[in-house]
Amino acid sequence: MVTPLWEPARWNANRVAIIGAGLAGTATAEALTDLGIQCTLFDPAPASGASGNAQGMLYVAPQVDPTPASRFWLQAYEYALVQYQHSPHFHPTGLLTLAESEQDADRLARVLIQLNKPAEQVHWVNAEQASQLLGRAVTQPGLNWPQSGWMAVKDHVSRPMTSVNHQAVAVHSLTLDSDQAWVNGQSFDLAILCNAYAAKRWLPDYLKPRPVRGQISRIQNQEAKQAVCAEGYLTPSDAQGYASFGASFVPNDDQTDLRPDDDAFNQSLMRQLFGQALQGQAGQSRASIRCASPDYLPMVGSLPVHGLWEQALAKLRVDAKWTPSERPHQWQRLMVNIGHGSRGLTSTPLAAAMLGQEITGQTAPCDADLLTHLSPARFLIRALKRGQR
Ligand SMILES: Cc1cc2nc3c(=O)[nH]c(=O)nc-3n(C[C@H](O)[C@H](O)[C@H](O)COP(=O)(O)OP(=O)(O)OC[C@H]3O[C@@H](n4cnc5c(N)ncnc54)[C@H](O)[C@@H]3O)c2cc1C
Repeated sequence: MVTPLWEPARWNANRVAIIGAGLAGTATAEALTDLGIQCTLFDPAPASGASGNAQGMLYVAPQVDPTPASRFWLQAYEYALVQYQHSPHFHPTGLLTLAESEQDADRLARVLIQLNKPAEQVHWVNAEQASQLLGRAVTQPGLNWPQSGWMAVKDHVSRPMTSVNHQAVAVHSLTLDSDQAWVNGQSFDLAILCNAYAAKRWLPDYLKPRPVRGQISRIQNQEAKQAVCAEGYLTPSDAQGYASFGASFVPNDDQTDLRPDDDAFNQSLMRQLFGQALQGQAGQSRASIRCASPDYLPMVGSLPVHGLWEQALAKLRVDAKWTPSERPHQWQRLMVNIGHGSRGLTSTPLAAAMLGQEITGQTAPCDADLLTHLSPARFLIRALKRGQR
């Protein structure tokens, strides 16, 4: 295991401000409340961001090699399953990950060997078995994850959280000093940015979240018995009889207007999956913005104090392999939980638990080194090594 170039943050925080009440903010509020921390959740319009979609899939996409990213996504998936098991909004219909090509089928077969999990967690299905599970014909084999499924996302983020103080206002002012974080003039021990791409205004320039527009289409169609994904995805229908499918993916576009071209694109994804477009009465499409990080891992944890780290780690600019004898440990009273990209349902429960570990020192339910891999400080280190700071 690689030792991080910094000392981890430790906070003795009793009162925390959480900015943004989507999947990230609500998971954070829940995790910290469970640890006895008093949380105030600021959002003028909860579930108005990407977490306002009617349905979302609980993705799991491990890679062949157990890279930190692959381990994070797998452990996050397993943690999310536990967190969601009693949620009335989670529907464990099963999730099929279909191969996108022959080469991809080989990759999935190798992933399965590497995972070495019991069949009730994941198993191989040929095209015929996949067609039977789905209730419609497909030509690709893939992996079946019987415990996964889909979430009624908007309902989930709107769940009551009685011990959390909600303030239905936008945060317009955020200032930090060595003892406190001031949010809209109110004092807290810590502030946590959970407002996705909108967090950018308060982030240092070495953190570069980017917006990725996505439009999800809806159709009155009750054919799919379980969730399925390849390049596109389709959920089973919800209580209103509508299934969701998509989703378009437009990097560096932060506009949420509805576009007929995006719906046409989503149908083209269904043609790739099933050989034909989905039939049924179209429902209301919805466009929103994913917040992606440059390495597709979320950014989770405290932010380093400007300037001090650059001084302490200056030698990295000339020697990327150098390790400091004294590791920097100065942190701002500002944490982030952003960059969940296309898989916030999977990543946000574990990310919230990781924040809980950083604040209280309790052990997080994941490999210890993953905290380092998700820390926003990783981008400062990379910038120093590249001579960009
Ligand atoms: C089309 C599409 C399909 C997707 N499908 C899936 C899927 O199937 N499975 C999956 O896991 N993920 C999916 N995702 C991704 C998932 O929706 C996101 O990862 C997740 O919703 C991100 O949650 P979040 O809380 O970080 O951000 P958001 O949900 O965007 O929440 C941010 C919140 O911050 C609030 N806010 C902003 N500024 C302020 C401020 N100044 N003060 C207070 N509050 C503020 C906003 O009102 C908003 O409620 C999809 C995304 C899109 C766009």
